[in-house]
Amino acid sequence: MATELTWLGHGTWSIRTEGYDVLLDPFLDDNPAAPVKADQVAADFILVSHGHADHIADAVKVARRTKARVIANFEICQWLEAKGVAKTHAMNIGGANDFPFGRVKLTPAVHTSMLPDGANGGNPCGFLLSLDGGNVYFACDTGLFLDMQLIARARLELAVLPIGDNFTMGPDDAIEAVKLLDPRRVVPVHLGTWPLIEQDADAWADRVNAETSAEPIVLEPGEKVVL
Ligand SMILES: [Zn+2]
Repeated sequence: MATELTWLGHGTWSIRTEGYDVLLDPFLDDNPAAPVKADQVAADFILVSHGHADHIADAVKVARRTKARVIANFEICQWLEAKGVAKTHAMNIGGANDFPFGRVKLTPAVHTSMLPDGANGGNPCGFLLSLDGGNVYFACDTGLFLDMQLIARARLELAVLPIGDNFTMGPDDAIEAVKLLDPRRVVPVHLGTWPLIEQDADAWADRVNAETSAEPIVLEPGEKVVL
């Protein structure tokens, strides 16, 4: 069965693969762009890239309802357990592990990670996922960094990059990221949620076509990519 990746707005994704539902950076109830609410999503596993509310806001709620296992850095896993999340799997940057749905490797991200209550959220990360259908890189929240050229060696079927600017890479640096990562397809995210990160995704896609060899895919929240 093909892997389906559905964008739920901002940095949130629902991935259906190998019979499992994997939720990435759950931010739904307070996300003006989200097409579903936290009590409507399925999850067997939840990936959390860093501690900011626009990525972890609904992790506790969804994990407690679904009994999903949360995969995140050590500090975030400890924090979630203290909040009543029963199942976690702590990792750290550079490490990889095989899960029933695929392989997960934590990649560096140039960002910050304080948790909503001020607790130490460790270091932020991105995710390199080896899934049925190919390798997918979620940069999550990050600025441009040259080591993306190492991530490219995984031969990416899909890269998911922030282009909203202000808090993450903007459109110009995201084009540089596409050149370093050389994915077959690329999806822009972390844009349009609020006026501060409003961007023209179609104009960015035109630049991807003109300046890189990747195929850009512009999604509306609720739409999906199939590997
Ligand atoms: Zn964010």
